[in-house]
Amino acid sequence: MEEGIIVKSLSGFYYVENEQGVFQCRGRGLFRKQKIKPLVGDNVRFEAEKKEEGYIYEIFERQNELNRPPVANVDQALLVFSAEEPAFSSLLLDRFLIHMESLDIEPIIVVNKMDLVKEKREQELLAFQQDYNNIGYAFYFVSGKSGDGIEQLPPLLEGSISIVAGQSGVGKSTLLNNLDRSLQLKTAEISAHLGRGKHTTRHVELLSMHNGWVADTPGFSLLDFKSISEDDLDVCFPEMKERLPDCKFRGCTHRKEPGCAVKQALENGDIPSYRYVHYIQFYKEIFDHRRY
Ligand code: GDP
Ligand code: ZN
Repeated sequence: MEEGIIVKSLSGFYYVENEQGVFQCRGRGLFRKQKIKPLVGDNVRFEAEKKEEGYIYEIFERQNELNRPPVANVDQALLVFSAEEPAFSSLLLDRFLIHMESLDIEPIIVVNKMDLVKEKREQELLAFQQDYNNIGYAFYFVSGKSGDGIEQLPPLLEGSISIVAGQSGVGKSTLLNNLDRSLQLKTAEISAHLGRGKHTTRHVELLSMHNGWVADTPGFSLLDFKSISEDDLDVCFPEMKERLPDCKFRGCTHRKEPGCAVKQALENGDIPSYRYVHYIQFYKEIFDHRRY
């Protein structure tokens, strides 16, 4: 038996890669009876038959499992934003961050199109970078067009399964192209490649890049809070989570309760006010959604 990772799934075949190469496999054995469907990203045990063909017998326990794109064991997400066109929005960034926190995926913030930024705007963006760094998030500035700052990204991919997420038009395919010239695809073609996910989400594929894996289908361009409860929202804000033990009441929602450590930190200027405003906004959204 050999071990490998499923990098592609197509027409009932699973393509399993390890140091020996890529094996076209079918599923067989216990997990089929248990009705567990192998996913791209799964670590599996398989029997290699002949050359480059085989049968999967076992799926190792998953760290997590995404639906869109259908990938298992995602370690991190490159959350791509553009500085301009469309303009950077901390509200949208926070929506993405909450989702990643709730899925236990490490977010890496990448702000692209820095070549379009004027000086005053740059100061604002640097202030955001400082705030998010303080909270504990990695935050990078790049330009997929000029290539500036791109060199910061390859080391981040090493040893991980990454997805790339972000609004359409922020430069995800341009960045992927920059990250791996060997893709040998023009932006438009990669966009088409990436766009496949919209029609047939089953066709996600892991691309080998810089000693890691990157899903070719972008995730999470549309976000809602259906899977998050308002009571779990505070733990998705790391700067709130660390202060929860100091709130006077257990289950404090950090809105009107007395002795709230989060509101105290806010007053002291230790929590950026816009983060708190977003928390309140998301809280209402989730609450209203549940009520109606
Ligand atoms: P995607 O939809 O997120 O995959 O975005 P694309 O990679 O297709 O890029 C959308 C548009 O933004 C294209 O016209 C790109 O040429 C442009 N673009 C991408 N990166 C940059 C950048 O760093 N600077 C500038 N000025 N334009 C960029
Ligand atoms: Zn509180």
